[in-house]
Amino acid sequence: MPSNAFIEAARAIVGPANLLTEAEDLQGFVNDWRDRYQGLACAVARPASTSEVMALMRLCAEHGVPVVPQGGNTGLCGAATPDASGTALVLWLGRLNRVREFNEVDGCIVVEAGAVLQRIQELAREHGYFFPMSLGAEGSCQIGGNISTNAGGTAVLRYGPMRDLVLGLEVVLADGTLCNWLTPLRKNTTGYDLKHLFIGAEGTLGIVTAASLKVFPAPRQRESAMVAFQEVESALTLLIGLRKQLGDRLLSCELINRAQVQTVLTHMQGPTWPMAAVPPWALIIEVTETLDSYSLREALEQLLGQALEDGVIEDAVLASSNAQQEAMWSVRHSVSEANKRAGYGVTHDTAVPLSGQAVFVRSVEKRLAEEFADGQMLVVGHIGDGNLHVIHMLDPAAYPGDALKQAAVRINRIVDEETLALGGAISAEHGIGQSNKARLVHSKGQTQIDLMRRVKAALDPEGRLNPGKVMD
Ligand SMILES: Cc1cc2nc3c(=O)[nH]c(=O)nc-3n(C[C@H](O)[C@H](O)[C@H](O)COP(=O)(O)OP(=O)(O)OC[C@H]3O[C@@H](n4cnc5c(N)ncnc54)[C@H](O)[C@@H]3O)c2cc1C
Repeated sequence: MPSNAFIEAARAIVGPANLLTEAEDLQGFVNDWRDRYQGLACAVARPASTSEVMALMRLCAEHGVPVVPQGGNTGLCGAATPDASGTALVLWLGRLNRVREFNEVDGCIVVEAGAVLQRIQELAREHGYFFPMSLGAEGSCQIGGNISTNAGGTAVLRYGPMRDLVLGLEVVLADGTLCNWLTPLRKNTTGYDLKHLFIGAEGTLGIVTAASLKVFPAPRQRESAMVAFQEVESALTLLIGLRKQLGDRLLSCELINRAQVQTVLTHMQGPTWPMAAVPPWALIIEVTETLDSYSLREALEQLLGQALEDGVIEDAVLASSNAQQEAMWSVRHSVSEANKRAGYGVTHDTAVPLSGQAVFVRSVEKRLAEEFADGQMLVVGHIGDGNLHVIHMLDPAAYPGDALKQAAVRINRIVDEETLALGGAISAEHGIGQSNKARLVHSKGQTQIDLMRRVKAALDPEGRLNPGKVMD
């Protein structure tokens, strides 16, 4: 257990108000968003500057104290929750949240790690630009957390995941060394590009303290549509047609099945469904355009009209106001909260090539129906990116004792077998954290795991950064 001398020295670095040690003050920092993991910590430190982070990291190195970095704590894999030993310091980055620079010429914004994602979107908008990362937790997740999980969200189809939005990083290493790589350079072929090691590392290799991020011209037109289908194949046919005709104007293409829509409508107050009936499958499509001279609405209307005529789709609704657009998206963005309220979901974050999506859904559905007929399979996700979330809902009362855990392991196995058979990966955007550690070896293979261990040993030889996450 860390000594009093450690606690006092940490308090001196961040000030008494920002070193929390009382159990009731730690409560919000030691369990995860889904309430599936409960840990303990010796304290929570809330540094307000990079130099305070460096001083804390040096102090932790001196006293051998493990460090668990934490942003908005909205992660879905238990990656920001400390273990039960009570020895770790939780490093909450939320006070390190300044915008350091907006540089129109370089097309970038430099922000500190604790800046909330929504604030960055708003800031870009105030300058007439667009920061495309968008996800359901954007009002509370932090950019440092988005970078550390290589977050995806709803605009990956056009702009890529977090990795593609980062130009430079500022990172503090386990021993307190500062790596200032906040360059806005778009081209730089000077050996290894080390910033990529920290993107998606889930806090196991260093503390992200700031980032230079790409911003894009703000779209002047935005259209959203909801489209109904009988089969996943039809969604793919439409997606390919839209991609061909609209190119980069296609921002999002989100799939949702009937059971998932009904779960949202049952457990959430706000969202409403814009069609007369809930179809077996629906797509939410968003397109944007930066020019005024191109009629985006006309193009989308024409494409959906043709798809209706060809029998590819069964129904389509085009939002006719901002309020209608927000209403369509509120169904999608309410999914995680609704599922949390609905009961126990065995969730997956699968990446499968687009060409394999329909086979994937069908084979998983068949196997889960055979072995877990009492459950309900919800499907939602970013089909345009080849990333679907299969959530098999179980009634915990039907699985007493260890049975629920065993059922979850078996369901994971079924989904993973189908994923890997199609050349996919077990996580596309949520990461590994604690939840998916045991499954990693199937997805990565031993050679990659061995190389990852060597990288970890080089950057964190004492294994003090977010211990027990990603790999043991
Ligand atoms: C309603 C809802 C919807 C969601 N939708 C999506 C979605 O569409 N796409 C998606 O990708 N995710 C989604 N998520 C998951 C989550 O929001 C993302 O993983 C997000 O990027 C986590 O950010 P955070 O600040 O909350 O990080 P946290 O949960 O606090 O931490 C996540 C990981 O990053 C590490 N970390 C945090 N900050 C730092 C730092 N500064 N330096 C080093 N390591 C750090 C932590 O140790 C941990 O390993 C959703 C979550 C919710 C609750």
